[in-house]
Amino acid sequence: MDIRSVGIVGAGQMGNGIAHVFALAGYDVLLNDISEDSLQKAVATIDRNLERQVSRGKVSAEDKQAAMGRIRTTMTLADLGPSDLVIEAATERETVKQAIFDQLLPHLKPETILTSNTSSISITRLASRTDRPEKFMGFHFMNPVPVMQLVELIRGIATDQPTYSALHAVVEKLGKTAASAEDFPAFIVNRILIPMINEAVYTLYEGVGNVRSIDEALKLGANHPMGPLELADFIGLDTCLAIMNVLYDGLADTKYRPCPLLTKYVEAGWLGRKSQRGFYDYRGEVPVPTR
Ligand code: NAD
Repeated sequence: MDIRSVGIVGAGQMGNGIAHVFALAGYDVLLNDISEDSLQKAVATIDRNLERQVSRGKVSAEDKQAAMGRIRTTMTLADLGPSDLVIEAATERETVKQAIFDQLLPHLKPETILTSNTSSISITRLASRTDRPEKFMGFHFMNPVPVMQLVELIRGIATDQPTYSALHAVVEKLGKTAASAEDFPAFIVNRILIPMINEAVYTLYEGVGNVRSIDEALKLGANHPMGPLELADFIGLDTCLAIMNVLYDGLADTKYRPCPLLTKYVEAGWLGRKSQRGFYDYRGEVPVPTR
């Protein structure tokens, strides 16, 4: 399967990062969103992030210009029909993703590989409602996409080997590394990472340590580049809670119960960096622990 053109649905945080790395690797990119504003912001973000790579000597000015020239945008989903590969990176809600696939499928050529960047929704279930479960896969990029090396490749029960091999080759062409995961809740990275963060919140909740001591302990004692609570603020506490709930519901095991303190922060609207407050308060010059 020769993949040259890529359609990306959703131009948010992940969609713009995915468009950035594909365009830089030489693919023609068509970026779709329901919001014109999101599309404009995505192109501006890609331009800014590429410029930063140029100033650091990681990308040449010519390559940046060529990459920008490969990115087009559209608000019409049907325009993605001729793409060799489609990556759905829209809002993490199953009804939203389902509606996108229903609308897109009649326009897709039969050989197109269809993928979702979902962090938690069952790939097998999403695939089963399409006309091509054998050509459907989870294609899970990490945030921020231009920086993070890993891509998880998740096969649904019906995914065939040529589809897996084609996506593996794409990951290599992007200069990234693939890890293959079976289709169980939260796949590999989040299955391990988010319960660790949840345990850090329990450690705080039970008074074993405070925000600073917990983060220092894991940075200096386990050689983690960021403490777990600092990382939780970066990911978003609502996202962490949503993933814990997917693990709890999907694996039916009480060991995945979300910490009540995590729920409390989300109820307060203290979602981490994006709302300026989480386990740290980001409104001043330096982050200040909130506990
Ligand atoms: P986001 O909120 O930044 O962006 C979502 C975009 O989808 C928005 O621009 C929205 O306008 C658009 N959208 C909504 N409905 C649409 C539709 N019907 N058609 C086209 N566009 C539509 O979200 P995000 O953080 O970029 O997450 C996108 C996906 O990536 C989710 O499935 C999420 O689970 C997954 N993901 C996120 C992260 C992360 O750290 N944020 C990491 C890995 C995977």
